[in-house]
Amino acid sequence: MVSEFDLITRYFMRTGRSGARTALGIGDDCALLAPAPGMHMAISCDMLVEGRHFYPDANPEWLGHKALAVNLSDLGAMGARPVAFTLALALPDASDAWLAPFAKGLFRLADAHGCELIGGDTTRGPRNICVTVFGEVRAQHALRRDAAQLEDDIWVSGTLGDARLALAAYQQMLVLSPEAMQEVALRLHAPTPRPELGVALGGLAHAAIDVSDGLVGDLGHILKRSGVGAILHAERLPVGPILAQQPRQLQLQYALAGGDDYELCFTAPAAARPAILEAGTKTATPVIRIGRIVGKPGVQVLDAAGMPLALDLASFDHFLSA
Ligand code: ADP
Ligand code: MG
Repeated sequence: MVSEFDLITRYFMRTGRSGARTALGIGDDCALLAPAPGMHMAISCDMLVEGRHFYPDANPEWLGHKALAVNLSDLGAMGARPVAFTLALALPDASDAWLAPFAKGLFRLADAHGCELIGGDTTRGPRNICVTVFGEVRAQHALRRDAAQLEDDIWVSGTLGDARLALAAYQQMLVLSPEAMQEVALRLHAPTPRPELGVALGGLAHAAIDVSDGLVGDLGHILKRSGVGAILHAERLPVGPILAQQPRQLQLQYALAGGDDYELCFTAPAAARPAILEAGTKTATPVIRIGRIVGKPGVQVLDAAGMPLALDLASFDHFLSA
């Protein structure tokens, strides 16, 4: 096995790069970041554990992507611009067949977002990938969960439910064509984080969260922290293109409670509608208005006729008002 130092040098140390905020990168006892004046530093950490979040034979390039993507998604949900990240890795061995594609997937996404690897830790052990991201957000523009207000619109980016559909196919609950499977598998394994949109929403949106566990559950965190409720319109939910070919009940279930979407759900005053559509266009991210914030606690989902939908979804019963 190569030494820890060789491994870091070979796969993770890249010379000639440093972000605008990096005073010192990999190689010393600490990295040094120089935050811009007036900005808050947004920090988040997410871990992927073999056997829990991925299988031993999982594609390492996708894993590299996903380990960073789920963290960039959190920055987006806070309205923060990615600055840098650290990588703590436990690996059973120093296999080039795993490390090379892992680093490729990781750095492709990092470079796309101008997010620099500034340090980490490497140790032998059961495979475990822990990324911590650092971003910056203008002090008044942080999109906190407790900031939703009565009468706010509720918006969501991209499409929902395709990742959950992939999972259902893996679990052999349904069968998809090979082409459909390929597409939804990408949504599950290589999600697209939305930090640019999150930053563009600064000063427009009130509250935001990224949809990692399912729309209703994640929106529920905003509602609880803000002391409000929500009405959602079922026909406005942006169902993923492959999922749209499934029975309607399944579409609703996966769009409302699927998980692993890594889209942004956010609330904003009606006056901000044109600016939010503009932010979506500017960042090449589809956004759609799916409901509004109300005083009555819980989530009510209405059908096209405005009638409450009867949904037998045990996973989010808790959030539905009776
Ligand atoms: P220390 O003993 O001070 O923790 P290490 O030998 O663990 O230092 O790490 C040496 C340098 O390499 C540090 O700058 C550390 O941040 C960096 N580093 C270690 N592992 C990784 C990794 N997986 N990815 C990026 N940088 C790493
Ligand atoms: Mg160390």
